[in-house]
Amino acid sequence: MSDLRDLYQEVILDHNRHPRNFGPLPEAGRRAEGHNPLCGDRVTVYLDVDGDRIRGVAFEGAGCAISTASASLMTEALQGLSVAEARNLFHDFHALVTQGDTGEDLGKLAVFTGVREYPMRVKCATLAWHTLMAALDAKDQPVSTE
Ligand code: ZN
Repeated sequence: MSDLRDLYQEVILDHNRHPRNFGPLPEAGRRAEGHNPLCGDRVTVYLDVDGDRIRGVAFEGAGCAISTASASLMTEALQGLSVAEARNLFHDFHALVTQGDTGEDLGKLAVFTGVREYPMRVKCATLAWHTLMAALDAKDQPVSTE
């Protein structure tokens, strides 16, 4: 079990140090900003949606390791999904970090299973996802976890 924990830790540290899909997405038709005042995390999510399909997703921002790694892993997980699949993934991920293992195979996102033990960190892990939902819903107001 501790081996798994170390592996999870390593994935989070790697994505924090080398975030994937980091930077603006020029072709993005939608964007949303999120802020987690409890931790100071800020994220902007860029979304390129073609019909019902997510063609590209990227993010920018600054925050703690959990929020940055979560945004990075989210952008990887979303590539090529339909909008409906992305919404389902949000719900599955939210359940994972609030309830623990839900039996869904979430691939690399499983590294955040342990976050539920730290309620303050749940907001760090879900910030990018809430911001993604705002981008999908094309809301103009910045997202706050508060
Ligand atoms: Zn944070």
